Amino acid sequence: RLSNRLETVAKYIPAGAKFADIGSDHAYLPCYMLKKQKASFAIAGEVVDGPFLSAQKQVVNEGLSDVISVRKGNGLEVINDGEVDCITIAGMGGSLIAAILDDGKDKLRSVKRLVLQPNVSAYSIRIWLMENDWSLVTEEIIEEDDKIYEVLVAERGEGKKPYSSHIDAELLLGPYLSKERNQAFQKKWSMEKANWERIIGRLETANETEETAAKRQELSWKIALVQEVLGNES
Ligand code: SAM
Repeated sequence: RLSNRLETVAKYIPAGAKFADIGSDHAYLPCYMLKKQKASFAIAGEVVDGPFLSAQKQVVNEGLSDVISVRKGNGLEVINDGEVDCITIAGMGGSLIAAILDDGKDKLRSVKRLVLQPNVSAYSIRIWLMENDWSLVTEEIIEEDDKIYEVLVAERGEGKKPYSSHIDAELLLGPYLSKERNQAFQKKWSMEKANWERIIGRLETANETEETAAKRQELSWKIALVQEVLGNES
């Protein structure tokens, strides 16, 4: 059985897709999609030997070698031109995901959909998408085993325009997630805010330098953005 986190990613891979799962580790996601015949072909990309070998082993054990190609390489370099129409990247930091997309821009020409699950800093991904003409089409936030995960789905071009005049807050918290404000969302951001308040408290008792002043200002700004969405009682 797939984790809820990866099942949420799987849900947004179009039926019959040819997709590349970058940083696939055990290739659980490609195996699940192909075993259930929800996709027609997958590449499992891995840059590290250990996970690459686990992916190879898993695909062979599941008898899926003819429909899943396990490849070793950095980011999108494992994809040949036109091979896939969807890319999934899950379980890494948002800035690493954005860097992988940015380094592999020329591999994105045939790609219509990105399904991204950052462990932290979804913000970096929303910024990258906006600056590179990808439109965020939906988002989901879920809690599993006391951890909270965000899944971002993007399609090429202008498409949906999810941002309102509260764009700064929406880039940080997510435009769709900010509207829905489900339990996982409220939990995540009240915890983040409490954490930032603790840090500000500590900074206030330390000797003020330019650096601590800048940090304090950044955190106060982020707290204000969270309050804009959750309200002052959060
Ligand atoms: N995607 C799986 C998941 O969500 O369960 C595995 C996540 S695992 C925490 C992250 C994987 O990404 C590691 O196996 C790591 O080797 C791989 N990785 C990190 N940077 C990468 C890159 N630039 N290209 C390919 N794989 C990468």
